[in-house]
Amino acid sequence: MSHVFPRHCHADLPAATGGAGCYIHDAAGRRWLDGSGGAAVSCLGHGDRAVLDAIKAQLDALAYAHTGFFTSEPAEALADHLIARAPEGLERVYFVSGGSEAIEAALKLARQYWVERGEPDRRHLIARRQSYHGNTLGALAAGGNEWRRAQFSPLLIDVRHIAPCYAYRDQRPDERAEDYGRRAADELEAEVQRLGPENVIGFIAEPVVGATAGAVPPAPGYFARIREICDRHGLLLILDEVMCGMGRTGTLYACEQDGIRPDILCMAKGLGAGYQPIGAMLCSGTIYDTIRDGSGFFQHGHTYQGHPTAAACGLAVVQAIEERGLLDRVQTQGARLQAALEDRFGQHPHVGDIRGRGLFRGLELVEDRETKAPFDPARRIAARIKSTCFDGGLVCYPMPGTIDGKRGDHVLLAPPYIISDTEIDELVDKLAAGIEAALSA
Ligand code: PMP
Repeated sequence: MSHVFPRHCHADLPAATGGAGCYIHDAAGRRWLDGSGGAAVSCLGHGDRAVLDAIKAQLDALAYAHTGFFTSEPAEALADHLIARAPEGLERVYFVSGGSEAIEAALKLARQYWVERGEPDRRHLIARRQSYHGNTLGALAAGGNEWRRAQFSPLLIDVRHIAPCYAYRDQRPDERAEDYGRRAADELEAEVQRLGPENVIGFIAEPVVGATAGAVPPAPGYFARIREICDRHGLLLILDEVMCGMGRTGTLYACEQDGIRPDILCMAKGLGAGYQPIGAMLCSGTIYDTIRDGSGFFQHGHTYQGHPTAAACGLAVVQAIEERGLLDRVQTQGARLQAALEDRFGQHPHVGDIRGRGLFRGLELVEDRETKAPFDPARRIAARIKSTCFDGGLVCYPMPGTIDGKRGDHVLLAPPYIISDTEIDELVDKLAAGIEAALSA
C-alpha cells in the first residue's frame, strides 16, 4: 500500500518511472502522450540532456547556499537573461520555488511599496473572478475560483474581484472586439472608484487565463486600457504569467503580445520546465529603488529562494528556448494545433469554443452550442474526460471552472514546445476519443 497522500484520496495512481520527449511511461510499459506538460510545466519535454547536464554540473559544484549570505553565478546569469528580454521597466528578479510563492512575494512587495511610499491606506487588491493565482492563502485570496476558495474563505484576505475578459460569453453579438475589451477593462475603473483610488494597492491578472477557464486570451485593447487605468490612479499592475509565460504563448513573456508593461510579473512552471522547482517575480526599478532607499529590506523570504541548482536549471531552460528557436516553433505548432482542433471539433455539438495562443489552447465544453449552457455539474464531465483520456494514453488538463455562477467544463492543452506534427495528430485523435467516451458514459 502506498503511504503517499495523493490529491484525491481514493486515487490509485500509476508510478511514472521514465520519460522521453513528449511521452511519460510507467514500469509496466504503459505510455502517455503529455498533452498538457503536466500542468503547463514540461515545456522542453522529458529527458532533456542539456538541462539535466546543467543541473548535474551545479550539484557537483555547489547544491545550495543561503541567499542571506551569497548570490550564485547561475542566479545572476538567469536574472540577467530574464531582464534583458523583459518588458521595459522591469529591472530586478526575486527567485522563489514555484508559482504560489511568486504571487505571495508579489502581493507583499506591492503592499510594502506603498507603505514605504508613505501611502499606508493603500490596502485593497483587485483581481478577477475567472482566475487562479495559487493555493497558499494570499494567492488563493487573489484567485476568483469559488470552488477552490469556499471552505477557506474565513482565512482569506479581502481581495475585490471584477468580471474577467471572456469574449466567448460576455461579448455582445453587435459589439466589436475592441469595444468589448474596453468595456471589460472599465470594470476596473468602476471598482477603483468604489474603493477610492487612494486605498488601492493594485490589480492582478493572468494575461491568458489558464486553469480556471482553459486558455482564454484577452480581447484586443483590454490590457492597454487596464494599464491606462492603473497609470491614472497610480495602481501597480501585477501580471501572473506563472502558467502562460516562458514562451508558452509564442513570446517569452505573454504580455508582449498585448504591448504592455507590468510593474510586477510572476512566472514559474515553464521556467524550470519540470526539472527543478523554481519561480520568479520580476519588479520595476521604481519599486526596487523605493525599498532600497527606504527600509532597505523586502520583508519577505524563503529558505530556498534563489536556490543555485534550481537557477542553473532555469538558465539551461531559457538558453534552450532561445538557442533552439523554440518561440518560433511554439507559434507554428500552436497554429497547427489550433487548426487540427478546429478541424476535429469545429462542428462538435458539445464544443462551444476553441481558443488560446501558441501552444496554450483550450476547449470549452457545453451542453448546448446555441445557448452555451454548461453541462450539469453532477455529470462531472471534466473529471470524466481526464480519466477517459488518461486511459487512452493522453495526459491533458480538463477542469471545472465557474461559468455564470455554475461550474462549466474546459480542457486545457499545453504540450511541450518540441511537439511534432504527428504527435499533434495523435493528441487530437486521443482527445477526441476521450471526449466521446466521457460524453457517452
Ligand atoms: N498562477 C497561475 C496562473 C497558475 O496556473 C498556477 C498553478 N496552476 C499558480 C499561480 C500556482 O503555481 P504553483 O502551483 O507552482 O504554486
